[in-house]
Amino acid sequence: MKEKASIYVFDTNIFLTGIDFNIIEAEIYTTPSIIEEVQDRRYVEKNRNILNKINVSIETKKLKIKLPEYKYIKKIREISRKTGDFKALSDADKEIIALALELMENSIKNIRMYSNDYSIENVCSELNIPFSPLYKDGIESKITWEIYCPQCKEIHQAEDLNRVCENCGSKLRRRPKK
Ligand SMILES: [Zn+2]
Repeated sequence: MKEKASIYVFDTNIFLTGIDFNIIEAEIYTTPSIIEEVQDRRYVEKNRNILNKINVSIETKKLKIKLPEYKYIKKIREISRKTGDFKALSDADKEIIALALELMENSIKNIRMYSNDYSIENVCSELNIPFSPLYKDGIESKITWEIYCPQCKEIHQAEDLNRVCENCGSKLRRRPKK
């Protein structure tokens, strides 16, 4: 039997990896502000190929641009205050998570958020939105992550990711180690 169809939600940094959409079987969704961010980058010339791919994918309906309903944006604002990520997230960041949440609540397809932003990851984790990072070759290995409790602020062991804090029961999170 065929697997349940999937929808991937892409953040700006995923488009900027230059990923080839044609090799992906899932439908891809993003928001207008994410596309603006890709277009707004200082090195437009460098991103021309990426913008071409985006335009072709919109024409072939592989890529869909959708603004989330306001109630989902409001929900993301609330949740990100709770997780401590409100300030770290731009309006575009909050919108892209809101879109993933809206799709999850209104589609029977499997939703997965793709981003390399750890505050987006934190909020997705809080809402149980499936999440994956996607790095250009080798970039991930340069980041050292630390696992911490958002409430107690205590640092935990790397293998504790996906567990809860033994002191307060909060879901543990990760962030790049400084
Ligand atoms: Zn704790």
